[in-house]
Amino acid sequence: MPRGKPEKSAASGAAAKGRSAARQAQAARVEAIFERFVAALPEPKGELEYINNFTLLVAVVLSAQATDSGVNKATRALFAIADSPQKMLALGEADLAEKIRTIGLYRTKAKNVIALSQALIRDHGGQTPSTRAALKALPGVGDKTANVVLNIAFGEATIAVDTHVFRVSNRIPLAKGKTPAEVEAGLLHIVPARFLRHAHHWLILHGRYVCKARKPLCRTCLIADLCAYEHKTA
Ligand code: SF4
Repeated sequence: MPRGKPEKSAASGAAAKGRSAARQAQAARVEAIFERFVAALPEPKGELEYINNFTLLVAVVLSAQATDSGVNKATRALFAIADSPQKMLALGEADLAEKIRTIGLYRTKAKNVIALSQALIRDHGGQTPSTRAALKALPGVGDKTANVVLNIAFGEATIAVDTHVFRVSNRIPLAKGKTPAEVEAGLLHIVPARFLRHAHHWLILHGRYVCKARKPLCRTCLIADLCAYEHKTA
């Protein structure tokens, strides 16, 4: 046996132990972070207003690159007269565009909402489908929208990564990633199962009201001692 081998395997054993201890510490930290979110807000809710699965789907499509409050302002009047694909088609693209003209990209979004209403009637009997594949086949629906609808309407443990979740997850950090898909995969891997159902709401609300993009409110943050962000504000 070569002389150096026992030393080498002792060193690699110590390295493996170190990695395992680091993984355990990270798991305990993630657990502690979500315990705090649960204690502060046991049943977090999204802030988009909707009245059924169809209006939830439409609201999420309209919310791309727009604020929830801006979308709500427009959809209150819209959903009062168009809360089904049939009624949305009866309203028509021009009137729909007029009703949502305060929302960014409203022309494209109006086109998508009309096209997705047609697809729902043609392919799903006017119902909102409950699978990722069927949702993503609808015009204007990507991963984020599908995740939100699956989570809120159908109770699936999905994590929709929007701008807030992306920033917060990279900052704390929870799961790091260069794309929303990487962060989503990382969060699904590290967030304990019992927190998954509400994880994206806690992270969105935390990002929107506390861990803000330009000036995070670190002094009053409930997870400040568990956060490793190097540019915490005083
Ligand atoms: S301590 Fe600051 S950077 Fe860290 S999560 Fe809280 S608000 Fe965000």
